[in-house]
Amino acid sequence: MTTSATAHRSRWAGKRRSVLALVLVAAVGLAGTTLAAVTLSRIEQDRLDRALSQRTQLVEQAISAEVNRYASLLTDLAKAVGAQSELESAEFTSITAAVDRQRLPGATGLSFVVPVPHSGVRALQDEWRRLGSPGLTLRPAGEGRHRFAVLSKPLDGTGSTAGLDLGRSAEAVEAMDMAEQSRRVTVSRTYRLLKDAGLPMERRQLSFVFLAPVYASSPTATDVGRFRGWLLLGTRGSDFLHEAVAGAAGDAVAVTLLDGSSGDPIPMASSRPTGPLETAVQPIDTTVPVAQRVWNLRVEGTRQLLAGTDRGLDRIAWLIGLVLTALLVALTGSVVGSRNRALRRVDEATAALRADISQREVVEHRLRQRETELVGFAGVVAHDLRSPLARIMGYADFLHEEAYDRLDGTQRDFLGRLRKGADNMRVLIDDLLDYATAENRPMVTVPVDLRRLAEEVARDRAGDRAAIIEIGELPTVHGDPTLLRQVLDNLIGNAIKYTPPDREPRIRVGCLPLEGGRWRCEVCDNGIGIPDRDRAAVFDAFTRVGGSENFPGTGLGLAIVHRIVERHHGEVGVDPNPAGGSVFWFTVPTDARLPAPL
Ligand code: ADP
Repeated sequence: MTTSATAHRSRWAGKRRSVLALVLVAAVGLAGTTLAAVTLSRIEQDRLDRALSQRTQLVEQAISAEVNRYASLLTDLAKAVGAQSELESAEFTSITAAVDRQRLPGATGLSFVVPVPHSGVRALQDEWRRLGSPGLTLRPAGEGRHRFAVLSKPLDGTGSTAGLDLGRSAEAVEAMDMAEQSRRVTVSRTYRLLKDAGLPMERRQLSFVFLAPVYASSPTATDVGRFRGWLLLGTRGSDFLHEAVAGAAGDAVAVTLLDGSSGDPIPMASSRPTGPLETAVQPIDTTVPVAQRVWNLRVEGTRQLLAGTDRGLDRIAWLIGLVLTALLVALTGSVVGSRNRALRRVDEATAALRADISQREVVEHRLRQRETELVGFAGVVAHDLRSPLARIMGYADFLHEEAYDRLDGTQRDFLGRLRKGADNMRVLIDDLLDYATAENRPMVTVPVDLRRLAEEVARDRAGDRAAIIEIGELPTVHGDPTLLRQVLDNLIGNAIKYTPPDREPRIRVGCLPLEGGRWRCEVCDNGIGIPDRDRAAVFDAFTRVGGSENFPGTGLGLAIVHRIVERHHGEVGVDPNPAGGSVFWFTVPTDARLPAPL
C-alpha cells in the first residue's frame, strides 16, 4: 500500500472518529436535557395537580359553608315565623328585617308561601288582606293545588313576588314537597325564577330556591304543630356561586356547578376568571352535599394556578440543556479539530522527513558509488603506473651501478633524487593499490589465528628497525586473513615508524573479549603520540597529523585499516597511551553467525 493511500485511510478514520465523538457528545447532551426536562415537567405537573386539588377542597368548603349559612338563616327565620300566633304583614317585615344586615349574594327575595286548594283561593286572599296586605291579589295558575307567595321581601331591588302562584314551577313544587315531608331546609333543582320571566335574556340566570317548612309553634296559637307553609329564598346561581367561591378560587380556578339530581348534570352556575384555562391539568369533578341535594362541581385550573412560582422550568431546562449541548458539541468539535490538525501536521512532517531520508539515501548511495569508482580508478591508475615506474627504477639502479664513478657531484645528486622520488612513488602506488584492495577485494572469511598473524608481521617488520614487540594471548577470530594481516601490519608498522629514532620502540599487541562474541584488539606503542584535536581525523585518507612531517608516509595506512575493520562490522579508534605514545584498537567478530562481512 502506498504512503498516500495509508495517509488517506488514516485521515478518513480520523474524520469518522471525530464525527462519532460529536454525535456521542450531542446524544449525551440531548439525553441529559430530555431527562432533566421530563423530570421538571413531572414535578411541575404534580405541583399543578396538587394545587388544583387544594383549591378544589377550599371551593367545596366555601360552597358548603355558604349553603349552610343560607340554610341556617332560613331555618331561624322559619322558626320565628312559626312562633307567631297569627302572622301579620308587619310582623313578617320586622322578622325579616334581620336579613338586611346579612350579605346574601345572589338572593332575589324572601317569600312566605302557603298552599291552598283552588276552591280556597278567594278566602285566602281575603284573610291575608285582613292580615295586613290589603293590595294582595292572588294569581292562580291552573286549577289544582296552589302555592301562593302571600308575603314578600324583595332583596335585589326588583318587584314583590306577592300573589305569584309557585305551583307553576315544577322544581319549586318538588322542593316544597320534599321540605314539608322532611321538615328540613331543602334546595330546589335549577330553574328560571318566575319573577325573571320579564328580564332581558342576557340577564336571566339559572337559579334555585332554598325552602324551609314553617310549623306553628306559638303556645298561644290554636294550631300548634300545624304546617303553615314555606319560607322561600330565591337565589340566582351564578351570583351566588361567584361570591361564594371568590375567596377560595381567586383567579386560580374556574368553578362550574352542575345539578345532577335529574339524570345528566346540567350546568347551573359558573364562576370563571378572565384568564385562560390551564390545559395541562385535568379538571377535577367532585360533589358537594347541599340541603338534601347533591351539587356536582367541576373545578378547572387557570394559568394563574401556580402564579408566583417557577413555571415552565422544563422549558428553561430545555433551553439551558440545548445551549450547553451546543457549547459542548462546539468545544468537542474544536478540540477534535485541533487534534486532527495536529495529526495532519505530524503526518505532513513525517512525509517530509521520509522524503528527506530517501533523498539522503539516494545521495549517500551515489556518493558511495562514486567513492568506489574513484578507489577503483586509483587502483587501475596505480596498477598501470607500476611497470613504467619499475622501468624508471631499473634504469636508475643500472645507472647507479654502472656509471656512478663517472658522474660528477651534481649528476650524482640528481641520480640520488631520481631514485628517491621513484621509491616514494612506488610506496604511494603500493598504498593506493592496498586501499583499492581493501575497498573492493571480495572477502573470504575463515577462522583466523590472530596470534600467528601478529607473530608473522612482527617477524617481517624485524628487518625495518630494532624493536621490542610483545604479543599477548590473541584469539582466533572470524574474518579475511589477508585483510586482517594488513590491519596488524599497518598498526605495528606505524607503531615502529612513529617512535623517535633515539628511542627503542616497545610495542604490545593484546586482545580483550567483549560482549556479543567480539574481541577488542590493541596495539600500544611508546611513540610520538597524537594530539587530542587530530585523533578523530587520522583514519581519513591522505591525513597526516602535525609532528609526523619527519616520518615518511602517504596518509593512507589508517584509512585502509578503517575500511577493512568496517567490512568486518567492527569499529576502530585511537586512545592516548597513559605511559606515553598511542593505543590503536579495533574490534572483530569471533563468530561466523554475526552478519556476513561487507
Ligand atoms: P602514513 O603513516 O602513511 O602517514 P597512516 O594513515 O598510517 O599514514 O597514518 C596517518 C597519520 O597518523 C600519520 O601521518 C601520523 O601522523 C599518524 N600516526 C599513525 N600512526 C601513528 C602512531 N603509532 N603514532 C603516532 N602517530 C601516528
